[in-house]
Amino acid sequence: MSSANTAYITRDLAHVWHPCTQMKDHEQLPPIPVRRGEGAWLEDYEGKRYLDAISSWWVNLFGHANPRINAAVRAQLEELEQVILAGFTHEPVIALSEELCAIAPAGLTRCFYADNGSSAVEVAVKMSFHFWHNTGRSAKRRFLTLSNSYHGETLGALAVGNVELYKEIYRPLLMDVITVPSPDCFQRERGESPAEYSRRQFAHMEAALGKHAQEACAVIVEPLVQCAGGMRMYDPVYLTLLREACDRHQVHLIADEIAVGFGRTGTMFACEQAGIRPDFMCLSKGLTGGYLPLSAVMTTEAVYAAFYDEYVKLNAFLHSHSFTGNPLGCAAARASLAIFRDDHVLEANRTLAARLGERAGALADHPHVAEVRQRGMILAIELAADKASRAPYPWQERRGLRVYRHALTRGVLLRPIGNVVYFMPPYVITPAEIDLMVEVAREGIESATCD
Ligand SMILES: *Cc1c(COP(=O)(O)O)cnc(C)c1O
Repeated sequence: MSSANTAYITRDLAHVWHPCTQMKDHEQLPPIPVRRGEGAWLEDYEGKRYLDAISSWWVNLFGHANPRINAAVRAQLEELEQVILAGFTHEPVIALSEELCAIAPAGLTRCFYADNGSSAVEVAVKMSFHFWHNTGRSAKRRFLTLSNSYHGETLGALAVGNVELYKEIYRPLLMDVITVPSPDCFQRERGESPAEYSRRQFAHMEAALGKHAQEACAVIVEPLVQCAGGMRMYDPVYLTLLREACDRHQVHLIADEIAVGFGRTGTMFACEQAGIRPDFMCLSKGLTGGYLPLSAVMTTEAVYAAFYDEYVKLNAFLHSHSFTGNPLGCAAARASLAIFRDDHVLEANRTLAARLGERAGALADHPHVAEVRQRGMILAIELAADKASRAPYPWQERRGLRVYRHALTRGVLLRPIGNVVYFMPPYVITPAEIDLMVEVAREGIESATCD
């Protein structure tokens, strides 16, 4: 069979090695070549359209080929595409830093740039360790992390994360971390509220900090939603308690807002819901509206000051990436932030989130749905083999993949994580598109759980 898509698929499979993929799967289900995107939609070479319900891996905020971001990138392209950020600077990075400091939790006044999320996590980890070294606390060299957390896939980021599927094989290469049981509220007892459970689980963190504070640089968390770990959610009270305990034990708090930042959880940054300021905040994914690879680590004057010294003391943070603070990425980020301001996006999202919750909420009654949970513009549906005990389907059955395949036939891009079907749509999605996305997920769940 020959079609407009087929030629691309054949050429692709001859040379392209896809991320996060068992390439043999493509014998059954070839990759879909995308010709163009517009708003919440992607279109292949045969004109078939797909609603991008997962924001192209959680990055896109305001639709594909957004006219305002396009114009900003185009204008920047005519001026300067890239310049070294050591010894030189440029207006997009200056203005973006001002704008980020103005909207971040108060006290985050310094922006260090990299070019992807994992690199931002590496920067935060190195900076925290190096801070303690520079301030005479070099016994501090370990990191505390939550079970089921995800912080990226370069070796340092992989080490501080806890998703076994990605980590197990590389364990011999990874630094040793202290793993604390997650406040993931899917595990709470029947009748227990998310706040109660989050508070109860904090006892593990308190104990770990009590035991390891002398050797601990930082605790790293994904605020409110452990996204790659299956969109598992917890209550803001956990972060409030964590901030207080980190201060008391003199341990840094790293907030990895790479997935949850920029409005996903309902507030600009998830940390706001706990009223806290982390010592390091990692940003990427939505930072550029999902346009270009860029990341930032925001930190405090206290951290910055510990590196500010005579050159010969060798206290500087000598970390760099070739494309650190790329001007095109910064221009896209500024255009994205302008849309947030001009269009009152967080406010508008409340209406969309309510619609999503209303429509998807009905799925909670399904005999193979263990939970429907939501935080802002993230909604997850947890499938279970047995609803009462919440026993999961064995991973080998790949039930989520069945939902994925069904959704593709109906023109919706869903990409379940194991037994978890979720939505994380671009903010330009319409109420009618939300209804479509939920209906297709319902059908997919139906067909994936009927045997
Ligand atoms: C995606 C993600 C990362 C890694 O970002 P990359 O750009 O894929 O390297 C880190 N932390 C969290 C919470 C993420 O969701």
